[in-house]
Amino acid sequence: MSDDFFQPVSGMDLPRFAGIPTFMRLPHIGLSDVRIRDVDIGLIGIPWDSGTTNRPGPRHGPRQLRDLSTMIRAENAATGVRPYEAANCADLGDVGPNPADIPDSMDRITSFYDQVTEADIRPLTAGGDHLLSLPVLRSLARRRPLGMVHFDSHTDLFHSYFGGTKYTHGTPFRRAVEEGLLDPKRVVQIGIRGTAYDMEDRDFAKSVGIRVIPIEEYFSRGPEDVMAEAREIAGDEPTYVSYDIDFVDPSFAPGTGTPEVGGPNSFEALLVARLLDGLDIVGADLVEVSPPFDPSGGTAFLGVSIMFELLCVMAKSREAAIRD
Ligand code: MN
Ligand code: MN
Repeated sequence: MSDDFFQPVSGMDLPRFAGIPTFMRLPHIGLSDVRIRDVDIGLIGIPWDSGTTNRPGPRHGPRQLRDLSTMIRAENAATGVRPYEAANCADLGDVGPNPADIPDSMDRITSFYDQVTEADIRPLTAGGDHLLSLPVLRSLARRRPLGMVHFDSHTDLFHSYFGGTKYTHGTPFRRAVEEGLLDPKRVVQIGIRGTAYDMEDRDFAKSVGIRVIPIEEYFSRGPEDVMAEAREIAGDEPTYVSYDIDFVDPSFAPGTGTPEVGGPNSFEALLVARLLDGLDIVGADLVEVSPPFDPSGGTAFLGVSIMFELLCVMAKSREAAIRD
């Protein structure tokens, strides 16, 4: 059960357009705050897009996501989950990156997450571009490799870009497998589509046993069947969830750097996250929302709506872990 202190400000008490916009209107608890030890799930911003190879902007994501998250209420009407009653949730602030230095930024992110995991907090991250998943996993998977359910139009499994650059938002999970942070047999990638440079990423996936579910298969089988397989692949062991907003069709999520047409609608975007229920989710991220391409805020609103679904399944799994 959660603590009264860790409740979001209700729109019934203070209008949603008023107040300082923390994630979901939760209390802001810095890492040095004494109350940090009471937090179960920490929402964290990583305003960093130095891994972006094409249209930039996700460095502005956390601020816009916080703003739009004031629209999110306390109860999941579809599942009945009230995440803030199931777990103590708080906004832990942003990791300050070094926008001019990728390795330094990654070290800063990993050391921030080391403090989060040491406090036994499960992180829900708002990006940022997809490279950030690598330094997060370096902390979360320090003791054992994790499984992963990954929603994206892209595998992000390429070896390198521009003749040898190994750290971009197209490579994080190749590095994570090489570094032993992910157990490839417990990794599933859903929604893959779009034109390709070549099949080097897919060949790598096949060679290590990562299950890739292309969009054609997703639509022919349907989200329920695909997610049943995803849950089976990830199994009962600790699992990470990485959600790239470009999984969703660009008619619903145009505010992103590398859109691919022919994707799921916004209803399915929420449904697949809901169908993660039952997994032991030790951390999750929502990445690649790019406010400069999202003047209406609609993509960010979908992004925080997905974050709420992730928070609901994380709160349930956190509650189950404490009970066991
Ligand atoms: Mn991605
Ligand atoms: Mn992508």
